[in-house]
Amino acid sequence: MTETRALRVAHLYPELLNLYGDSGNILVLRKRMEWRGIACDVREVHVGEHPSLGDVDIAFIGGGSDREQRIVCDYLLEVRADLAAFVEDWGVLGAVCGGYQLLGHSYLMGDEEVRGLSLVDLYTDRASPRLIGNIAVESRISPQPIVGYENHAGRTHLGSGVEALGRVLHGHGNDGMSGEEGCLYKNVVGTYVHGPLLPKNPAVADYLISRALDRRYGSSLLEPLDDTAELAANQVMFERLMADGDKGR
Ligand code: GLN
Repeated sequence: MTETRALRVAHLYPELLNLYGDSGNILVLRKRMEWRGIACDVREVHVGEHPSLGDVDIAFIGGGSDREQRIVCDYLLEVRADLAAFVEDWGVLGAVCGGYQLLGHSYLMGDEEVRGLSLVDLYTDRASPRLIGNIAVESRISPQPIVGYENHAGRTHLGSGVEALGRVLHGHGNDGMSGEEGCLYKNVVGTYVHGPLLPKNPAVADYLISRALDRRYGSSLLEPLDDTAELAANQVMFERLMADGDKGR
């Protein structure tokens, strides 16, 4: 069967929110679609622009410092209703660290409580010390542990109806205490995992792509790829972290 499917990706504010290579996530989404013959159109949304998500399948927002997060938040608050409509209509949204925190009701920046987008029932306060280091997470959306790197002062607390992305096997996750990492809500995946997230976690990339295909075409079927290199990278990191007795804390 000839592949005729196509997806549009909106990359929000790449010049501001690109900590620890988060923009690499877009390259992975693009390549994993192209390798399967699925056309991929990436639209970057830059500072000063508002995203219009009417024809978008996957939106992605990376992480950044408090300052950068604050600038982006002001733009996004102006189109909050559109973003909420996208999320409620099962639009696929991937959000990392600073971007993940923005999804919630509020984010504590210094002593100031900054209003968030309230797209997902969660909020973020902060504490010392920063939660820094490598992380491994067990998640139902990936047969392999999700591995990567985290660095955040924020402590994120999920509302009672919001599922965590997974359980922390090594590292800190949402708040360093609950053992939970990230969030899953409709087709939203929020996480503290940088690195970037997707190259070493191909199942997470395919989860985002398949959810988007399902929404647009009613079929989430994805041809398998040869992930030998990706899975070897994942395994090396996971084994290294598991050999570290103090769980990274
Ligand atoms: N500024 C946020 C924090 O420190 C997010 C940082 C990040 O994206 N790594 O909690």
